[in-house]
Amino acid sequence: MKNNRIVRLITGLVLLAVFAAVLVMSVKNYDLDRLLQDAQPKTVVVTVEVTVTPGIFSTEGTGTGGTEGTEPEPVPTVDPDSPEGRAAALGLPAPPDIDITSWEFLLANPSTSIAEYVPPELVTLEGQQFDSRIIEPLKAFVQAARNEGLSVYLSSGYRSYNEQAANFRRVCENNGITDGKDSKGFYITLPAGYSEHQSGLCCDITDRYYPTKNRTIEETALYKWMSVHCQEYGFIVRFPDGKEEITEIMYEPWHFRYVGTDVAEYIMANGLTLEEFLALYTN
Ligand SMILES: [Zn+2]
Repeated sequence: MKNNRIVRLITGLVLLAVFAAVLVMSVKNYDLDRLLQDAQPKTVVVTVEVTVTPGIFSTEGTGTGGTEGTEPEPVPTVDPDSPEGRAAALGLPAPPDIDITSWEFLLANPSTSIAEYVPPELVTLEGQQFDSRIIEPLKAFVQAARNEGLSVYLSSGYRSYNEQAANFRRVCENNGITDGKDSKGFYITLPAGYSEHQSGLCCDITDRYYPTKNRTIEETALYKWMSVHCQEYGFIVRFPDGKEEITEIMYEPWHFRYVGTDVAEYIMANGLTLEEFLALYTN
């Protein structure tokens, strides 16, 4: 009797163990199947046909209204034959809107004679004569430099036609030349009618204690200050270094020319000569 009960108990336990084992195995298989299913790459092929009917997206001719005024804005164009267009072609900003025939822009250079021109009114300032219209700006320029402790000396202003003729002869004689040009072919003096000094719109400015007129003057504190601030008073460095091929005149770090503040700011900011600036306004 007792053995029978033990046998049944063991049999029951074995059956229970087998059942439990089968249960565990089936759960594991189920998870494995799910994992295997999830790991399968899923490929979905979707075919979409798009048919575009001409006119549906067009703003023209649909007659639906409400789409008018959507035409592209016209791109602003700059006339290539305008000052702005010529400046843009050279990579320069738009130049000032000015009357190029005004007195400030009178041009006298080796290829442009002003003949026997005389300024309408001459005024003397510190021993030199100038066109009366530049006296106030010149005074302000000189005073500002003196306020910086600089020894400003006005060494040459207006020269009449006859004075320029005498100047030309004297400079040529002193340098053993006849054409007014240096060894590089650039003018150091000009024949009467061609010098800017005859316009009364310029001034040679040197240091009172350094009156030499050659390129070493650029090392003076006077030139360093004046070449940086001249445009604030309407003046430009008229014959800059490296522009001799354009001006045909030697580098003159003492010769300042009045053109008005707007134009002076533009010329100095963009490293131009008066010739290059005026060419922007000429067809
Ligand atoms: Zn000069």
